[in-house]
Amino acid sequence: MGNIVAIVGRPNVGKSTFFNRLIQRREAIIDSVSGVTRDRHYGKSDWNGQIFTVIDTGGYIVGSDDVFEAEIDKQVELAIDEADAIIFIVDVETGVTPMDEDVAQLLRKVNKPVLLAVNKVDNNKRLENAVEFYSLGLGEYFPIASTNGSGTGDLLDALIEAM
Ligand code: GDP
Ligand code: MG
Repeated sequence: MGNIVAIVGRPNVGKSTFFNRLIQRREAIIDSVSGVTRDRHYGKSDWNGQIFTVIDTGGYIVGSDDVFEAEIDKQVELAIDEADAIIFIVDVETGVTPMDEDVAQLLRKVNKPVLLAVNKVDNNKRLENAVEFYSLGLGEYFPIASTNGSGTGDLLDALIEAM
């Protein structure tokens, strides 16, 4: 089995924050790739001795949250082709959005491990609110807070197991 992990989701959910946390100790390896993949950042990470490549998708329009659903779909489809496992990040602060539902619809058809991470779960109220993401039809989710790392260990344990 390969070891490429793609992080997908709509803008502002915390993909890059999570990515930066993962590749923290190997920052020198981060690179931008030109051409069709110019919006994607690649990094190396390891968890419990398992080394893997992480792709941070997005960066669509610099300085703007105004992104077309089609662009996100394109990133998700690239990720589906390229990656061995996908981490789909959503944001408990906004709750489920139509774009989340759109991405979930693409990911439900994928025959690869898909892990749903509900980010910005910074307190107990948000932990309760996270249950609404069951409606995406992707099963169990991982509540995380990328800014402080809470919950990310359980997510990475599951990722390694799934790969
Ligand atoms: P991206 O567009 O999906 O890559 O999202 P970013 O990583 O750029 O993060 C968007 C915003 O969400 C930034 O202001 C982050 O600081 C914030 N953010 C990311 N993770 C968390 C979190 O765990 N908790 C909170 N409260 N904010 C977060
Ligand atoms: Mg980003």
